[in-house]
Amino acid sequence: MNYYNIAVPKPLRQPLTYCSPQVISAGRFVEVPLLSKKIIGLVLSQMEEKPDFESKEILKVFNDIPPLDPIRMEWLNWLSQYYFYPIGMVTSSCFTPPLSDKQRKKQSSLNPSNTSTDIKKLQLNKDQLRCVSEIQKISTFKVHLLHGVTGSGKTEVYLDLMENIIQQDKSVLFLLPEISLTPQLFQRVSARFPDQTALIHSGMSPSKKQMNWIQTIEGKKKILMGARSALFCPIPNLSLIIVDEEHESHFKQEEKLKYHARDSAIMLGHKYNIPVVLGSATPSLETWHNVQTKRYQYHQLKKRVRGYPMPQMSIVDLKKQKNKELPFWLSEELFQALKNALKKKEQSALFLNRRGQSSLSLCSYCGSHLKCPHCDISLVLHANKYLVCHYCNYSINSLQAECHPAQDIMHIGVGTESVFEGIKKLFPKANIQLADSDHIHSASQFQSIVEQMLKGKTDILIGTQMIAKGLDFPKLNLVGFILADLALHTQDFRSTEKCFQLIAQMGGRAGRHSINPGKVIIQTYNPDHPAIQTGAHLEFEKMTSHELKFRKQLNYPPFTRLALIQTSSAKKDQSLALAKKIHKNLSTAIQTKNVQCLGPAPAPIFKLRSKYRYHILLKSSSTEDLHKVCEFIWQKPSSAWQINRDPV
Ligand code: ADP
Ligand code: ZN
Repeated sequence: MNYYNIAVPKPLRQPLTYCSPQVISAGRFVEVPLLSKKIIGLVLSQMEEKPDFESKEILKVFNDIPPLDPIRMEWLNWLSQYYFYPIGMVTSSCFTPPLSDKQRKKQSSLNPSNTSTDIKKLQLNKDQLRCVSEIQKISTFKVHLLHGVTGSGKTEVYLDLMENIIQQDKSVLFLLPEISLTPQLFQRVSARFPDQTALIHSGMSPSKKQMNWIQTIEGKKKILMGARSALFCPIPNLSLIIVDEEHESHFKQEEKLKYHARDSAIMLGHKYNIPVVLGSATPSLETWHNVQTKRYQYHQLKKRVRGYPMPQMSIVDLKKQKNKELPFWLSEELFQALKNALKKKEQSALFLNRRGQSSLSLCSYCGSHLKCPHCDISLVLHANKYLVCHYCNYSINSLQAECHPAQDIMHIGVGTESVFEGIKKLFPKANIQLADSDHIHSASQFQSIVEQMLKGKTDILIGTQMIAKGLDFPKLNLVGFILADLALHTQDFRSTEKCFQLIAQMGGRAGRHSINPGKVIIQTYNPDHPAIQTGAHLEFEKMTSHELKFRKQLNYPPFTRLALIQTSSAKKDQSLALAKKIHKNLSTAIQTKNVQCLGPAPAPIFKLRSKYRYHILLKSSSTEDLHKVCEFIWQKPSSAWQINRDPV
């Protein structure tokens, strides 16, 4: 009999022991019995000696899926330790069941190999060629930042880098923050590399995902595109990792394994000793700091391709909006610009990062503020009818709101739905589309919005973040920010950085294919705020130097590392008592360490989904010290409290 350490997807800190008469190599997935169930585990290692307790037998070995290689296993182990998550719950993300015979048959009928499509390849310009050749110089581990304004041709650089890799019969991982929102990008990559590109994202059917996964691990597809979960696909011969829009907070998963996909991709590149390319028009301050301290190699694309100009951006102070005929959120400037665009048959987009018709509902009779009974959050009016909580989706008919007569409830503020209605009234003949998560529920619905824009059917597109990223609409020449300040009113130390990024990203959608510069109008109540000022002038370096000074003073990343401990309980007292207990344990742990401990304090959203939450924040300039302190208090995952490394 042989004995094995097997990681199982359960909240355990240690692997379990199972036996088998077979010799099984580390990295193989196996099926094992646990209590009365069968579960899938991963063989971590073979034990040297027979343990002195009884162990159960392995039921099945998945010999038809390639085993994980030792480097991949090391990386999984790193994830488990760094993010304080049980090893078996990390390794299970690398498993996909093998295809059935039926699926195999279907696959071979679907895949006529080498369909000859004519592949359009652009001749790169001098700057792009320089970036490609500098990046290709080193084939071992190195982190590169490709920094280029929107429309400067970063994607074309990625495509050339990929081509070089697949010509050597090796593979590429291409990570994006939200793949379902960037259908155009997948089309571009698969048009350039037909039959070589696989895609994995959460909006996909499980069988389609499984098919793409298997084709990748069997080496049939050399390019894997996907959102963060694609990192777990054990791609053979991985030789390059690209992380597009590296600054995006979507790369951080905020539940279960709270990993940051960009940081984890860098660690994977480090372990495999291969290059990692981060791309962005607005790099994160963490990445920028690493460039300044020469840890990362910097490559810049300064201009838009073909000499297209950057858009003209202007700031409009909404406090001065006096035209009573227009809604309070629409300035004369933006109104005229929309009118003009319609006259010239150009497209416009209006951006607002808030859904619904209001931001706040107040009873004008008693002044009470209508909140979600489960969350510490205002209810928002939707469709003139429902009051909805944007965090837990609790909703009531607005006529049933438990207050004074419903007609006395005032809905204050603005959301995408009220913008849609207001614009419709002002421009009744225009074709207006609304893109936010209340109205777009699937990748195909989003795709149809994109197609209508591309075909020129839409005149005005109104939307949230959903429309801010990665889209390329040739006839879009006007972008309006309804209320650019929204991103600033959060308790996040990154709010200036985030607001800047939004302005640059969304503004960058304007005039991408035109010799006449696009127009961007930024409406705000805080025209002098540094984020708005630097955003409107696309002064990235000015914003970063302003922000870095502030972060340094207050000991925030990139100068320190953070770990956030959050307790959560349906009982307020219990949540606080637990936070205090953890705080006490921490005090002993941090005595000899260079770690600062803040809190416990109520979380910014104190009550969420009927749970009361307290935060303890740990800060340290030493990653090791911070890790040791967390290690000291961590037992196993619990619903009562959790550790979040590098929270965003
Ligand atoms: P980014 O990824 O930086 O936003 P893209 O790679 O999407 O930029 O390029 C913007 C647009 O310019 C795209 O339509 C692309 O096809 C085009 N483009 C990029 N590089 C070139 C080039 N060298 N010659 C002509 N067109 C180019
Ligand atoms: Zn709620």
